[in-house]
Amino acid sequence: MAHDFGPRTRLIHGNQGFDHGEFRSHAFPIFQTSTFKFDSVEDGKQIFSGISKHDAYSRISNPNHRQLEDRLCILEEGEAAQVFDSGMSAIKVALMSFIRSRSHIVAHNNLYGGTCGLLKELGNFGVETTFVDAKHTSNVIHALTPETKIVFLETPSNPMLDICDFEEIKHFLRIMERNDIIIMIDNTFATPCNQKPLTRGADIVIHSLTKYICGSGKYIGGAIVTSQELMRVVWERHSGSGGMMDPETAANITINVMSIYDRVQRHNDNASKIALWLKNKQSVAKVYYPGLFNHPNHDVAARLMSGFGGMISFRLAGADNSKTATFLNQLANDERNGEGIITLSVSLGSVDTLICCPALSTHLKILPEERLAQGITDDLIRLSVGTEDVEDIIYSLERGFQIIA
Ligand code: PLP
Repeated sequence: MAHDFGPRTRLIHGNQGFDHGEFRSHAFPIFQTSTFKFDSVEDGKQIFSGISKHDAYSRISNPNHRQLEDRLCILEEGEAAQVFDSGMSAIKVALMSFIRSRSHIVAHNNLYGGTCGLLKELGNFGVETTFVDAKHTSNVIHALTPETKIVFLETPSNPMLDICDFEEIKHFLRIMERNDIIIMIDNTFATPCNQKPLTRGADIVIHSLTKYICGSGKYIGGAIVTSQELMRVVWERHSGSGGMMDPETAANITINVMSIYDRVQRHNDNASKIALWLKNKQSVAKVYYPGLFNHPNHDVAARLMSGFGGMISFRLAGADNSKTATFLNQLANDERNGEGIITLSVSLGSVDTLICCPALSTHLKILPEERLAQGITDDLIRLSVGTEDVEDIIYSLERGFQIIA
């Protein structure tokens, strides 16, 4: 019987062998080419009709895409993956592959601001989205209509760290014989190291590769991971629509993803310690982290996730907006002067710690009353905990607390 290699080994070595060719390169080369040669007219026809798996044109596929897609399938335990030039391209294509005018979508009411905006924009094309508090499965079930094609969730969500029970939702959809409804999970916050939605009832997983999968904060990318069957629908409808990743980015993200298990373990450990430290601080009113026992859906998170991730949100005690600004500006100044290490910036999932105020950045375009309903107040702070020495992250945060004391 063949040896059963572990997840880290499979991730590093990949499923697809690679012919090192005459140059015997150890690293997988970057195929910086727009087009590929056909051996004959018949060969070209075979490629375009999908009989031969060779690449034809880099907007459609490229060996560097396939290398990264292979790694993403290994990580998410999916059968097929497709990379894009951004997380938003992946979300756009995933949604558009399964809707038609008059289709209906049910989405959690806390999502990345860009995703929320895109779902609303689809209203102009006759696709209605009902936003519900999907932390309670019954709200999702009650919102379904005969036209519902997609249930779209982020779990944990950005920035409230809400946990939605997609396993339970799938269970009810099966009972209701609504197997036509696709459950899409944006797994960016969780990472596949902590949560593998395809193994627990989700149909499609989406990633902003820009975040933990890349980990260095240097590249933008996105991906869809799913079954062969659903990916065929995506390919048929959208292989020509553009939004492809460039080969060099794919090659670099592939190198970075090989270390994701070790990075995420450290993100998990550091964030758990910092969430507890923040919770015990008098100057902090509330901490949102699924790993804390007082998180409202901690038990669901403990079932769906093997680690609780690197993202934390919190509110300062008695904070008016100016207090929050003073706290964040202190951190930004410290980082500029070399006295602290936390960068005031959007994005997340890099090895260095980032902090931001979602209401005044990533979620600014959402109507203020909708933000408030989700809990995204102007004093909410989102922290992407890096993999630095945890004492140094705490030291840097403490300097912000001192200035507002
Ligand atoms: N999904 C989540 C949860 C995000 O936080 C983001 C961006 O911050 C996106 C999707 C969009 O990804 P990208 O910026 O790669 O387009």
